[in-house]
Amino acid sequence: MLSPGSPIAAILSKASIENKNLPVSGLDRSILCLAALLWTSRVVAGDAPLDALKQAYPNAIARIDGNAVVFRDGARMEAGADDPARSFDALIAHANLRDMFRLAYPKGAPPAQPKENFDPGRFRDKAFFDRLYGDCRKGEVERRLVAVTWLAKSWGRTVTFAPEAAAALGAVSAEIDAMPPSIRRAAYPTAGTYACRGVADRGQPSMHAYGAAIDLNLDYSYYWLWDSHGKGAPHWRNRMPREIVDAFERHGFIWGGRWYHYDTMHFEYRPELLKP
Ligand SMILES: [Zn+2]
Repeated sequence: MLSPGSPIAAILSKASIENKNLPVSGLDRSILCLAALLWTSRVVAGDAPLDALKQAYPNAIARIDGNAVVFRDGARMEAGADDPARSFDALIAHANLRDMFRLAYPKGAPPAQPKENFDPGRFRDKAFFDRLYGDCRKGEVERRLVAVTWLAKSWGRTVTFAPEAAAALGAVSAEIDAMPPSIRRAAYPTAGTYACRGVADRGQPSMHAYGAAIDLNLDYSYYWLWDSHGKGAPHWRNRMPREIVDAFERHGFIWGGRWYHYDTMHFEYRPELLKP
């Protein structure tokens, strides 16, 4: 249905008024066709969430077709609909592709206490990430992992990571390695990358299950479940230096310290949520 403010609606209403006395001229018809074309292309080009997915994962996604993502092997995945009535718990338990973009990730913002249930990036469509990286329970993820040297100058051990995100992790590593010792100390030893397990509080797949997340130095970390022992509201606190957060965000990673249900050592590769 045309919105009342659309250019087509305006021309149609003009044409219908003029049509009472005169037929619509060839020129008017041309303008109408052109306006329809422009309006349609604007609507199609304006699907920001699906476009962001295609830009973030160009090797996996071939194109957007209507409300679906089409993978390079031809498989289609419907994006689903925005349903404002769905609860936070329902979205954590199962999110569709559109749900993943409900909360805008605040890239570059100063670290601060998030608002209640503001967990940008925790609504994940499991089927989508299974298709991107594989299902770890079937051994599909582990056999694809590649080695990345983490902080060659400061620490120099290898971690294993999903090949799609390994170059980005290497770029983050180089940036942190060049930071002053007092800052980079929060980034090693790492507390883990790949682990075929779910998120502790919900049992849903974590990005660790895809080899696309890294936990940094445990001694600099706060996790809401450890702090609250599962009772009471999370009380945000943080020791992760902003310089480290900024380095990760520059290369397509989001930070668990931006979540109401915080996990300040956790970074995961989610380039679809970060504008370049
Ligand atoms: Zn983690």
